[in-house]
Amino acid sequence: MFQPITNDQLIAVANEFGTPVYVYHAEKIADQYQKLTNAFKAHPTRFFYACKALTNINILKYLKSLGASLDCVSIHEVNLGLMAGFLPEQILFTPNCVDFNEIIDATVLGVRINIDNISILEQFGNRFGSEYPVCIRINPHIVAGGNYKISTGHIDSKFGISIHQLRHIERIVKTTKLNVEGLHMHTGSEIKDIDVFLQGLDIMFGIASNFKELDYIDLGSGFKVAYKEDDRETDVAALGARVADAATKFEKEYNRKLEIWFEPGKYLVSECGSFVVKVNVIKQTTATVFAGVNSGFNHLIRPMFYDSYHRISNITNPNGPQRIYTVAGNICETDTFAWDRVINEVREGDYLVFHNAGAYGFEMSSNFNSRLKPAEVMIENGEARLIRHADKFGDLLRNQVV
Ligand SMILES: *Cc1c(COP(=O)(O)O)cnc(C)c1O
Repeated sequence: MFQPITNDQLIAVANEFGTPVYVYHAEKIADQYQKLTNAFKAHPTRFFYACKALTNINILKYLKSLGASLDCVSIHEVNLGLMAGFLPEQILFTPNCVDFNEIIDATVLGVRINIDNISILEQFGNRFGSEYPVCIRINPHIVAGGNYKISTGHIDSKFGISIHQLRHIERIVKTTKLNVEGLHMHTGSEIKDIDVFLQGLDIMFGIASNFKELDYIDLGSGFKVAYKEDDRETDVAALGARVADAATKFEKEYNRKLEIWFEPGKYLVSECGSFVVKVNVIKQTTATVFAGVNSGFNHLIRPMFYDSYHRISNITNPNGPQRIYTVAGNICETDTFAWDRVINEVREGDYLVFHNAGAYGFEMSSNFNSRLKPAEVMIENGEARLIRHADKFGDLLRNQVV
């Protein structure tokens, strides 16, 4: 049975490694991975961890050990994946607006390629013909996702080849004899409604009959996790049953086995992550009580970037009376993590935890304000180990010409 991480464990990590610090709980990743594989066991399904969410090589190795494959969006992620021990066959490269040379580099490494643009498809076909299989990323124009910034399927999106260009895709495939092994779609992040996936799957089946030798249909991601107490995550069990059903039916019509692939990022690593900060100051203004912490949007940009909600708890005063705070960072720009949040009384020196900080947390951090990036720690089997050192002052100067 999965045991969540305790406040005492987090406090011990903060005391040992300092704050701010990102802490990842390995068993929570395993728990999420298990939920997915259980949900989809009725049909051959593969999960490609979308590693842009969190690329620490220890996390990559851990996901490899669970049996996951890997979805990469840059050649450097591909190289990290290979270093972590993934086989080229287990890596899907899904770039967008990259130089054609980066795609050629990926073919040299032997990984799977997902192409999302007519111009690149044509260049790829002219160069490789039937020699190197490809997957084609389709934009089915389904509008889905938590908000506009994380929705990718809409008409103005730069992602994928529009389904209305299917005839053009077919022309290129026919003329260059491209070997199309898979079709892909990824309509956005945080999709609550499983019908969106099924609608997408239906559209993909509709196109599949134009390609006779597909091995898989990749439905991307969009699995939502719970951010607030009363939030619900995507019902993967219900989705799994319906996808398996639809896929098994379609295989008969298509006369060929078809795997279903997904690319979860957030679903696998969001909840495993706790970001622990220390309260530097309590500042009372006429209207607000600010809790000012030793971090900022340079370490966790999601609230300022797309209004994401992170639950916050005071782990050093968990039974204190509840009061209302605005939690702010130390960056010289508007830098608010949360407005009007009910938290157990916060005192200077307390440790606060931002929950759901595993995905797009450390990964989007920067050195803005010449601040140092935090350390990363992984807790596995009850043991905490450092998996990235915090920056030191010298790191700020590393590539500067002085
Ligand atoms: C970002 C991304 C994902 C992962 O999205 P999550 O919301 O983190 O699950 C999957 N596939 C592609 C192509 C992506 O760009």
